[in-house]
Amino acid sequence: MKKIAILGSTGSIGTQALDIIDNNPEGYSISVLSGATNMDLLSEQVIRYGPAAVAVPDALRAETMRKRHPGTEILVGMDGLIAAASETESDLILNALVGMIGLLPTYAAIKAGKDIALANKETLVAGGSLIMEAARENGVRILPVDSEHSAIFQCLAGNNASEARRLIITASGGPFRGKSLEELETVTLEQALKHPKWKMGSKITIDSATLMNKGLEVIEAHWLFDMPADKIDVVVHPQSIIHSMVEFRDHSVIAQLGVADMRIPIGYAFSYPERESNGSCSLDLLAAGPLTFERPDMGTFRCLQLAYDALVSGGSYPVVLNAANEELVRLFLDRKIRFLDIQNHIERIMQEHVPVYKLTLETIMEIDKEIRERVGSIWL
Ligand code: MG
Repeated sequence: MKKIAILGSTGSIGTQALDIIDNNPEGYSISVLSGATNMDLLSEQVIRYGPAAVAVPDALRAETMRKRHPGTEILVGMDGLIAAASETESDLILNALVGMIGLLPTYAAIKAGKDIALANKETLVAGGSLIMEAARENGVRILPVDSEHSAIFQCLAGNNASEARRLIITASGGPFRGKSLEELETVTLEQALKHPKWKMGSKITIDSATLMNKGLEVIEAHWLFDMPADKIDVVVHPQSIIHSMVEFRDHSVIAQLGVADMRIPIGYAFSYPERESNGSCSLDLLAAGPLTFERPDMGTFRCLQLAYDALVSGGSYPVVLNAANEELVRLFLDRKIRFLDIQNHIERIMQEHVPVYKLTLETIMEIDKEIRERVGSIWL
């Protein structure tokens, strides 16, 4: 039986991961759960899955959980998340946290020799070089959960990765596909939160509307598959049937297809290299209709271009891109800024940044904090 720790168990990825475990009760047990806001759902999960430990963000929530679950170890704050990822008896850590907050727990888990199922792309965007190096040194597997990266991982399975010449990441295009810059001036939060294909958490849904999600995925793919920026293409594929592709040296292109259901990539990370049923359904190609492809409009959706720029410039630029984006998306979700402010401010902050090229965990955390404070100070 595989013991799984789920960091972020009350979110979209976390609840779908538990659904997979419900489908395969003999295969898995839950060692740790963590949640930040929905304590009632977290409590229900504790009762149902009986983890040895639960991580919550602060003392107040810890007190609530201690009263409700006296037999369960309650871990608190960032130290608690790090302990949850590295000090508990777990075979696999599913990092389904949202944002840079996932970096330190992932790093600690790798140092402790635990395999990672990674749904938290911001971790690789900000700390890709450190994370991948630590994974190599500790013989730890990073199993991608992001649907595009799971697709690429599956296309590479059974092939020689060094014979891949190009990665082709597909994008749905989000709710504003085809819109002009002028039209984007007036889009609302409600419109941005309506993703045409995937049901996800609010941060990633906004990232999908700006195309920053695809930009973060390009950087994530660079680190996971050791591919330079000019060999990672993004193609808009509104039907979201092909989840990504790999072109090999002989120009053969292998694609991974399926319904838009995150239980497929989560399940593959859990059972890799095997496959098992996961509660999703068959792809009906006849019902899917024509599959179409478009070039992404990076002049209008600047975030994708900025992510490529950050990756090519290297050093601390991806840290800046990510930190500015996280804070600006939060301000947009709080209705404090307009949709286009997100990309305009990221561009300006990146232009003003004086890069650092030798990154340590400490410098990453420092730059991240500094950029967040900068963004915050604009709206004080
Ligand atoms: Mg994705």
